[in-house]
Amino acid sequence: EMKPLSPLKKVHQDACEFFHQVLLTSKAGERALNYAKERELSEDLLEHFQIGYAPNSDHLLLTFLRGKGYDDTVLAKSGLFSQNENGQLFDRFRDRLMFPLADEVGYIVGFSGRRISNNKELAKYLNSPETEIFNKSKVLFHLKEAKKAARTEKHLVLYEGYMDVIAAYKAGIKTGIASMGTSLTDDQVYLLKRISRNIIINYDGDEPGQHAIERASHMFETIGGFQVGVVSLPEGLDPDEYVKKYGPERYQDEVKGAITPTDFFLKRLELKYNFSNDREKLAYLDEAVKLIAPLNNPVERDLYVTKLAKKVGVSEDSLKVSLLREGRKLRVAERRKKQYDFEPEEQSKTQ
Ligand code: ATP
Ligand code: MN
Ligand code: MN
Ligand code: MN
Repeated sequence: EMKPLSPLKKVHQDACEFFHQVLLTSKAGERALNYAKERELSEDLLEHFQIGYAPNSDHLLLTFLRGKGYDDTVLAKSGLFSQNENGQLFDRFRDRLMFPLADEVGYIVGFSGRRISNNKELAKYLNSPETEIFNKSKVLFHLKEAKKAARTEKHLVLYEGYMDVIAAYKAGIKTGIASMGTSLTDDQVYLLKRISRNIIINYDGDEPGQHAIERASHMFETIGGFQVGVVSLPEGLDPDEYVKKYGPERYQDEVKGAITPTDFFLKRLELKYNFSNDREKLAYLDEAVKLIAPLNNPVERDLYVTKLAKKVGVSEDSLKVSLLREGRKLRVAERRKKQYDFEPEEQSKTQ
C-alpha cells in the first residue's frame, strides 16, 4: 500500500510540471528555451532532468498552485515563495531555468534556478531555502538515476554543477551526481558509501575546482572504505565546457584516465617546485614523502617510491629510508593523540 504523498512533496511535483510546461509550450518560455538550446540541452535532456522555466512574474506559480487547491500555509512552508512586508506570498524563482532537486527515492524536494538574463547583479543560481523536506547538505542532484546506473557501472562520478551532470549524461556517463553548489558534506559522503565505494571526482579544471578535489579526496580518505579516482580537466574547463569543446569520446577517455588521489596530489606538488634546483628538489621530496607515508597499503607505497625515484633521479633505497622515518613520526604522533583522547575529563579541564 502506498503512503499518500505529503503536501510539501506534492506541491513540488506540481510546481515541477508547471515549470516544465511553461518552458516547453508557452510563449513566456521561448527565451528560456533558446537559452536551453544555446547550452545544448536537447528535448530528451529537458525531459530526463525535468527541466523547466520559472517565468518572469511574481504570481504565476502562486495562482496556479492556489487554483490546484493548496492553501497558503502549505505554500508558505514550501520554499517556493517569498513573503513581502504585508505577509503576502510571491514567486521566489523568477526568470530562471529550473532544475528540480530530488531525494534518493525520486521525490522532488527543492529547486535550483539558473539566471538566464545577463543581469550579473542576480545570483547565477538560486536554491530553495531549507524546508521540512529540503536539507541541502543531504541532497545530491540526480542521485536516484545515478544509483540505478551504478548497479551496472559500479561507480559514481561526482561533479560540481548541475550542468556538468547533464553534460556527462549526454556524453554517456549516467552515474553523475552533484552537491548543491556547496562543498561536499560528511552526510553526503555517507550517503554515497551506501551506494558505491568507487567514486570518481570530476570537479572543474579551474583553481577552486582543483582545491575542492583536494578537500573531497581527504574526506573520502578520512571516512574511509572508498576507492577514489580523480579527473583533472585541462585549460580550466568544467566538464560541461569540455564536452562542448572536445566531444563525448574524448570526455569519456578523460574519465577512464582517472588517477589516484596520491598521483593527483603529487602532480599538484610538482608544479610548486623547480627541479633544476637541488634545494627545491629536496623540498619537493620532503613533501612527497609526507604524502606517501600515510598510505596503508605497502604495495601502493612501493609503487610511488619507484615513480618518485625515477622522476627525481635518486635511489629507491634512500627514499625508503626517508619513508620509514616519516612513518615512524606518524606512528608516534598517532600514539600521542590516542593517549590524549583517553585522558580523563577532569584532568583535561584542570589543564
Ligand atoms: P554554469 O555552467 O551554468 O555557469 P556551473 O555549474 O559551471 O554553472 P560554477 O560557477 O562552476 O557553475 O559553480 C558550480 C556550482 O555551484 C553550480 O552548479 C551551482 O550549484 C553553484 N553555484 C554557482 N554559483 C552560484 C551562486 N551564485 N549561488 C548559488 N550557487 C551557485
Ligand atoms: Mn566551478
Ligand atoms: Mn563550472
Ligand atoms: Mn559550467
